[in-house]
Amino acid sequence: MPELPEVETIARDLRGLVAGARIVGTRSNWPRTVRSHDLDAFATAVSGREVVAIGRRGKQLLIMLDPVPLAAAVRGSAARVDPGAGSIDPEPAEPAVLTVHLKMTGQLFVVPAGTPQDRHVHLVFELSDGRELRFRDMRKFGRIGLYRRDVETGVPPKGEADGVLPRGAEPLSDEFTLELFFEMLGVRRGRLKTLLMNQDFLAGVGNIYADEALWQARLHPLREARSLRPDEVRRLYGALLGVLSEAVMRRGSSVDDYTAPEGDGSMQEHLAVYQRGGEPCLRCGRLIRRIVVGGRSTHFCGWCQRLPAGHRAAVSKLAATTGPATAAAADRPRRGPRWTELDGEGALGRTVDEETRARRLAANRRAAAARRASARLGGPA
Ligand SMILES: [Zn+2]
Repeated sequence: MPELPEVETIARDLRGLVAGARIVGTRSNWPRTVRSHDLDAFATAVSGREVVAIGRRGKQLLIMLDPVPLAAAVRGSAARVDPGAGSIDPEPAEPAVLTVHLKMTGQLFVVPAGTPQDRHVHLVFELSDGRELRFRDMRKFGRIGLYRRDVETGVPPKGEADGVLPRGAEPLSDEFTLELFFEMLGVRRGRLKTLLMNQDFLAGVGNIYADEALWQARLHPLREARSLRPDEVRRLYGALLGVLSEAVMRRGSSVDDYTAPEGDGSMQEHLAVYQRGGEPCLRCGRLIRRIVVGGRSTHFCGWCQRLPAGHRAAVSKLAATTGPATAAAADRPRRGPRWTELDGEGALGRTVDEETRARRLAANRRAAAARRASARLGGPA
């Protein structure tokens, strides 16, 4: 699922593409994409509105809309619209915000109207300049909502969209200071991996960046949050900021179906542990382990991210709940680093198993990249 860096990348791309554009109509083949309205009411409510800004809250995009004169709402009348003259709506509607949750496979593209579109495009915003903003979503878990917008905060006023947006701190905002992080951890129970992914604790961090930040900070995912020493809290804080901002800089991780309107990211080539179960740790060379925590696969280095001795018994049961890949990795004998393995595909010194696994991984990545490329062209997936 796209996390903070991926959604931030989409927001930045969209800002350049559709800020200032005007919506003149919508069409949809999957009404449940819109969570707040039925399709007719939704079409009426967004038509004629102008995209004034694009923001992000956690893993959701915020598309800010302003009311414009009613004439613009009539499809195809864009050419006639002149806000200064002939406005027939003396009482413009309130400012609004579209919340877009991409979930597993949601993608957004801006294309000229008439560009071929496949059956996975579930919602289309037609723009007055002859382009379309398309929401494509193979698994159909994505959700879009339209709410009133508080002009001060940019989000819906209290009580308007409860449960839609996360309540957790924004890790890359100025408000998220080290002091605040100490306070947040001081009042929370729970294990680090689960807590970091809780959107009401920290907004925008999911499976990829929780695993990466914990590896960077050398902290075990099953560590009890309240047991962290001050130097460990500081390390985790620095790791979260470092990993997230590097990922934003690299336009996110294009694993699975994530792509942004202006193209894929490259952070997937710089991930240290995520989806690297059974491969050598980039720090110590021992094999990366994969366990399942709260139904989510979790990747870490059992050597670099050791639990304090007193904590091991408590988590031994949890750590034993391993997925198939883990069992296989755990059975393999531990050994030191073979530096030739760090060079990537085709490197000398791999066992047959490692070679097969690397080839399969590369094939999966190529298939996902092909799916994304095909989606961009509007072709069948
Ligand atoms: Zn390691």
